[in-house]
Amino acid sequence: MSLEIYSPVQQINNKLFDDKGLQVFIKRDDLIHPVISGNKWRKLKYVLQQAQAQNKTHLVTFGGAYSNHLLATAAAAAKFGFKATGIVRGEEMQNDTLFLCKLHGMQLIFTDRESYRDKQALFNKFFADDERAFFIDEGGASPEGAKGVSELVDELTDSYHHIFCACGTGTTAAGIIHGITTHSLSTQFNAIPVLKNGAFMKAEIDRFLTAPADYVLHTDYHFGGYGKTTPQLIQFIKQFVADTGILIEPIYTGKMLYALYDLAAKDHFAPGSKILAIHSGGIWGLLGMKEKF
Ligand SMILES: *Cc1c(COP(=O)(O)O)cnc(C)c1O
Repeated sequence: MSLEIYSPVQQINNKLFDDKGLQVFIKRDDLIHPVISGNKWRKLKYVLQQAQAQNKTHLVTFGGAYSNHLLATAAAAAKFGFKATGIVRGEEMQNDTLFLCKLHGMQLIFTDRESYRDKQALFNKFFADDERAFFIDEGGASPEGAKGVSELVDELTDSYHHIFCACGTGTTAAGIIHGITTHSLSTQFNAIPVLKNGAFMKAEIDRFLTAPADYVLHTDYHFGGYGKTTPQLIQFIKQFVADTGILIEPIYTGKMLYALYDLAAKDHFAPGSKILAIHSGGIWGLLGMKEKF
């Protein structure tokens, strides 16, 4: 597997950050791969190596009909020579994400929301007899996923007072926190849960940590919940993309960057702070959101 990473760090210049005396940077994990972008690439790296080591040739994973993880797995399977099945939550439907999954050769199985809860049971139901089948949890949530993400911190050549990242399952956050701890950095990690009542995210993150760590959860930037948006969020995204030329989307990266800008405006950061935002990829998520714009 050739797994070289291209993810440069770029500065974001604007008047707000100048006025507040902040230097803000973005790590472009979205540039790692056009489809297997961002944290999904990092999360899959060791999962795929584990599958190969066990002679598994068929990746089976799970997701909603707009899941970046399903699409990333479909593309990674095609690129690295695996067969792939996606078990999709809900009634049979068509959309751009699922179209791209199928284009990469993924087989889709739609399942009702009730049976979707028990992923292992679904795997057993369809693939108990397929000894080449390899189970990958929804969102790639796993210790291997966190290990892959922690390598993001190895790549940093500069130090930052803050790192910002969006979280869904918390695997990516755990990986970055692990990297910060391993390198004994004094960087404060800031997690932005994209789901409502995000305080539960602490337990989700902590289950992938090998040692307790301090970090901050900003739980007020979910904009109504997972996949929900508001006109302010959409307006922010339009402005950001037009100002920077960097594509972001409303499910993850838009919420994370909105939080960063909002906290900067509210003097949350000491003047002189250097802040790194992680662009965790996922811009295909825009396709399911076109009507919001
Ligand atoms: C999946 C995803 C996340 C969430 O990652 P977790 O490890 O599940 O917390 C963040 N950003 C983007 C763009 C994603 O696609």
